[in-house]
Amino acid sequence: MRRWGEKRYNSLDYYCKTTYGEKLYKVVLNGGMSCPNRDGTIGVGGCIFCSAQGSGDFAGSPEQTITQQLIRGKDQLKQKRPIHSFIAYFQAFTNTYGSVEYLRHIFMEAIADPEVRILSIATRPDCLGDDVLELLAELNQIKPVWVELGLQTIHTSTAAYIRRGYTLDVFDRAVSGLRRIGVDVIVHVILGLPGEDSAQIADTLHYLNRMDIQGIKLQMLHVLKGTDLAADYQAHPFWIPSMEEYVELVSTCIAQLRPDIVVHRITGDGPSDLLIAPVWSSSKRTVLNNINKYLKEQDIWQGKFYAGKES
Ligand code: SF4
Repeated sequence: MRRWGEKRYNSLDYYCKTTYGEKLYKVVLNGGMSCPNRDGTIGVGGCIFCSAQGSGDFAGSPEQTITQQLIRGKDQLKQKRPIHSFIAYFQAFTNTYGSVEYLRHIFMEAIADPEVRILSIATRPDCLGDDVLELLAELNQIKPVWVELGLQTIHTSTAAYIRRGYTLDVFDRAVSGLRRIGVDVIVHVILGLPGEDSAQIADTLHYLNRMDIQGIKLQMLHVLKGTDLAADYQAHPFWIPSMEEYVELVSTCIAQLRPDIVVHRITGDGPSDLLIAPVWSSSKRTVLNNINKYLKEQDIWQGKFYAGKES
């Protein structure tokens, strides 16, 4: 059995401690951008699950400069513990959806902070043109750059249902482009999408196992107030796993995952004032404890069922 510190999976904390010598804390930032899947360029409604805050409900205020957001976010984190190393995480909306001049300005502002060790950027794979990649390559020479891509699923029908707005080959090209410039790629996968069973989720994981990606975020689908997903859920309730079912599902995913992929997330905590379902997901600590307990009881570790070379 493999172990990563006290965990049975290659956790982000373990990766940071072994790579940077300490745990790094995320300061969630808002670069004030929109999303082409919302402003009419690709679509108007956005992804079906996306909240009004562009999946950045814990991000800073776009009214503030990046420096102000960083100071505020760091101060909040420092109140709980004596820390001085952070990840500047641009989370809300699509964080490469702006002019290269603007992107350079905000990203440079973030990495100018000596306590920022890593620049992490959440974006869409169809918003990574050559000019953006050139900028990211330059920034990556100053501090490590991570790019997070919201794939969610490889399945065309589910991608259409969630209105993702790009095809799988766009994702493939984005990963190749980012790896060409040495940027780490982290992929979001949602578990429990309507109509997807565990075999289809396994298809997505096997596909990603074959790709040159460095990190993954696994999370339960959240139904949030005000989204089209919520309207759909209320009109035609679909299956939402119980906590026990989710624990089993995510543990199976961990067992199938390539061992070198860093697991950035195995559950999510949607904003409690917006969360409709699953209500249990707001007890993040309980979910994490139950997953770790289940992995131990079932003697599961990351890659236990990874065949090595995926066909
Ligand atoms: S791409 Fe991101 S910000 Fe845009 S609609 Fe989808 S989840 Fe929301």
